[in-house]
Amino acid sequence: SGRLNLYMKNIEAVLPLLQEPKKIFITTHHKPDGDAMGSTLGLYHYLVQKGHQPVVVSPSEVPDFLAWMPGINTVLNFESEPRQCQKELDQADLIFCLDFNRLDRVKSFTEQLGAALQPRILIDHHLHPDAAVFAYGMSDPDKSSTCEMIYDFIRIDGGAELINNDIAACLYTGVMTDTGSFRFPATTASVHEMLADLKHRGLEHAIIHQHIYDSWSAERMRFLGYVLYEKMEIFPEQHAGIIALSLADMQQFRIATGDTEGMVNYPLSIEGINTAVLLTEKKEEVRMSFRSKGDIDVSTFAAANFNGGGHFNAAGGRSTESLADTLQRLKKLLGIPVK
Ligand code: 5GP
Ligand code: MN
Repeated sequence: SGRLNLYMKNIEAVLPLLQEPKKIFITTHHKPDGDAMGSTLGLYHYLVQKGHQPVVVSPSEVPDFLAWMPGINTVLNFESEPRQCQKELDQADLIFCLDFNRLDRVKSFTEQLGAALQPRILIDHHLHPDAAVFAYGMSDPDKSSTCEMIYDFIRIDGGAELINNDIAACLYTGVMTDTGSFRFPATTASVHEMLADLKHRGLEHAIIHQHIYDSWSAERMRFLGYVLYEKMEIFPEQHAGIIALSLADMQQFRIATGDTEGMVNYPLSIEGINTAVLLTEKKEEVRMSFRSKGDIDVSTFAAANFNGGGHFNAAGGRSTESLADTLQRLKKLLGIPVK
């Protein structure tokens, strides 16, 4: 990994394009997370200050735990408002693609995004960007988050003085969520320097932690208790932990989208466990989340076996087999004896 994966395509050439007011379409991946919304809204607030007309379009619904973010009410959802979103896409001068590496990660409007004639600009930290589809880009898997890269981009653009409270809150959100609150190895000195700079510019960080981590429903907390007690399987010999959730499990606790967020990390808090997998049964497929510690590459594992990908230590994937068959195949791949 490392610097070998750094990819830059003409990013300096984007700066002159931002000298004159423009209509700018900003989008991110399906099922946006803290980094996806933090980076798109952080860039949105920056471009507004520069006199542009930006719009953020999410491919799917924004999860409730991000509903407090500044500017979130301006975000359009391609799934529920396809016509309005298509109009924004048609009228845009530029398209920013943030926190994803291939066009099909926007799911609901992959075709439309691919057909757009305006230049697409990539800013992202996932491995293996599909370079050919972006006119300009910066992709750096060593970066903690896309939010950190938006901060870098603003500074390259000479706009540090425009960083206000809204921008700071958005960028902090993505860095915080993508680094597990500043503990993953990607939390470099540059990350801490960025945080110090945001604090100097008025960032109120404590309230952001409250919004994201201390806003659970009692129901969700009880669901977590149930999952850890009843559903988590630990395999010490294989250093693995697996949680498989069926549709019935979710219905029993009236679980909302986003309520399983973060659950995949719990097995990794057990000593000796270095691979964790969460399987969630959906109507059409089984969604999979992979997490690891140290030198275990779950990105390649997810790509090779479960039609997915992502980062070295955090990846996703899917299976169209049943939950039981997917679980069986996963266990075999991990060297876990199955009946
Ligand atoms: P999560 O488990 O949180 O859904 O995903 C973990 C990481 O892997 C995220 O950064 C996400 O963007 C990425 N990821 C999830 N699913 C896929 C996938 O199917 N393909 C690729 N390339 N990345 C994915
Ligand atoms: Mn990210």
